[in-house]
Parts: sequence; C-alpha cells; structure tokens
Amino acid sequence: MKPIQTSLKRWINDNESFKQRHEAMKREILSHPNIVNFLEENSGITDNEIDKRLNKLYEYISQSIHCSTCKNYETCTNIVKGYSPNLEFLNGEIHISYEKCPSHIEYERMAEKQNLIKSMYMPKEILQAHMANVFPDPHRAQAVRAADAFIDKARDEIPQKGLFLTGPFGVGKTYLLGAIANELQKFNISSTLIYMPEFVREMREAIKDNTVQEKINMFKHADVLMLDDIGAETLSAWFRDEVLGSILQFRMMERLPVFFTSNYTMVQLEQILATSTKNGVEEVKAGRIIERIKQVSHELRIDGKNRRE
Ligand code: ADP
Ligand code: MG
Repeated sequence: MKPIQTSLKRWINDNESFKQRHEAMKREILSHPNIVNFLEENSGITDNEIDKRLNKLYEYISQSIHCSTCKNYETCTNIVKGYSPNLEFLNGEIHISYEKCPSHIEYERMAEKQNLIKSMYMPKEILQAHMANVFPDPHRAQAVRAADAFIDKARDEIPQKGLFLTGPFGVGKTYLLGAIANELQKFNISSTLIYMPEFVREMREAIKDNTVQEKINMFKHADVLMLDDIGAETLSAWFRDEVLGSILQFRMMERLPVFFTSNYTMVQLEQILATSTKNGVEEVKAGRIIERIKQVSHELRIDGKNRRE
C-alpha cells in the first residue's frame, strides 16, 4: 500500500502546486491593464468564460500589443510577425484576432517609397539617410545648402544640374546622396544610386547576357542619377567612352541632373580618366567626359572629420 500512498501524495502535491501556479497566472492575467479594461467594457463575460479562455487571454498579454515592446517591424517578437493581438467578446465568447500593427503599416509604406529609390550596391544606412540628420558643421554647410536648394527647386521641376561632391574619405558624401534621394521621393522623384566600382562590374557582366543597351538606357532615363565614388573604379576605355560617356551625353542633352561623389576634384579626375585605361594617355577623351560632368553637375567641396573612425 505504501508505494501507492506515496504516489498519491505526490500527485496531490503536484496538483496543489499546479493549482497554485494556475491561480497565480490567473491573477497576473486579470490584473493586466488591458484585460481590466476589456472586462470592464464587456460586463457580460462570465467567470466560467474567463476560466475557459484563460489561454487566449494569456496569449494576448504575452504579445507585443500595438508595438508596445517592439522598436520596429524587423524586431517584432509576436507569434505572427507584424500583427498585433486584439480581444473581442462575440456571442458570449472571448476571441483573439490579429491585425497589422502600426510598425508593419509603416514598414509597408516605407517599402513602397523605397521603390522610388533604385539602388545598386548601396548600404542600408545610406538608403535611410535624412537631411535632418546631416550635421550642419561648417565644413559641409555649402554642400548642405546646395542640396537643400536642389530639393527645394525639385518641388516644381527637377533642376538641370546635380552636385559633384568632392572630399576625403568618410566625411559623409555618400550619406548626403542618400538623404537627397529620400527627400526627392517625397515629391515622387525617383533616384538611381549606384556605387561606381560595382557599376563597372555590372556592365561587364551585362556583355555576357546581352543587356548592355538595356542597362545603359535605364541610367540615361533615370529622373536623378547618382554615381557614388567615381574615380575609385578601374576603368576600361570601353566603359569610359561607351557607357559613362554615352549616358552623360544623353543626360546633358536632355538636361537631366547627375550627382557624383568622389575623393578627387574634377581636375584630378580628368587626369585619372586620361591615364587609367590601358590605351596610354587619352587627354582628349578624358576631357570630353569631364566637360559632360560639368554640364550635368556643380562641383562642391565637402570636408569634416572622418565619420568612419
Ligand atoms: P564618404 O562617402 O564621404 O566616404 P559616408 O557618407 O560613407 O562618407 O559616411 C561615412 C560614415 O558616416 C557612414 O557610415 C555614414 O553612414 C556615416 N554618416 C555620415 N554622415 C552622417 C550623418 N549626418 N548622420 C549619421 N551618420 C552619418
Ligand atoms: Mg562614399
């Protein structure tokens, strides 16, 4: 008999502790401010219904309700990402339903806007850059003013000339491009941003799948074209003259702006474009490219501390 008595006792003990845990949980659930409100608003809910749906109520309070504990859509902790729980009392029963949370709605709104920024090989932080976050230090004041002026004019009509931002590494040139692109999309202007070394690689690949012309056309016709880090790439004469040259020629004729960032000034870039190809010194061809760059952008220096350190 003894063993049976022992197990029975253990069972009663376990059951007691289960009951205690159950009671503690129930108290916790019923003291949650949202549950207090819900029960107040729905006075017809019986104790029996509460006991029956305790698991639903627990599911509700254990979620992030209307993003209360999540920073954004990406870090959402809910069972169904981006959906927030709702409690309802219908036909005498408690139900839990889910609806898109505010962060999810904001995420979708941003994603739709991002479509206006066609970016290739640009870091995420650049695509989330904002003019309001560009520090107004004296070294960049002129560039920021020029960017603001461009954005301001773009409200009515896209200006003919973009900016050629020259300055040392890490001062925020690329960041400024991202910020301009984000402001422009507010007026439904799309920007195409591309990192030059990848642009060269991409075009080399395009030869293989016969999409060179298609790609050149895309860059020719972009509302606003932004070429990041010109001079950092190894150029072939083909890329310089047939790709870059023809895109710039078209944009110059059509009065479409181009933004550039570079560690070089236009004068230095001319040297690089003349000597970086295998064909020896080609001053005339390099000069032609620089002439077109001048037609589609204003050169401005941007300095300051290196923000990557
Ligand atoms: P550059 O193109 O001149 O080399 P970046 O634009 O890449 O420099 O800027 C260097 C780093 O500093 C990047 O990580 C960028 O995100 C950051 N950064 C630059 N300007 C700002 C700013 N105003 N606010 C926040 N981060 C910035
Ligand atoms: Mg850069």
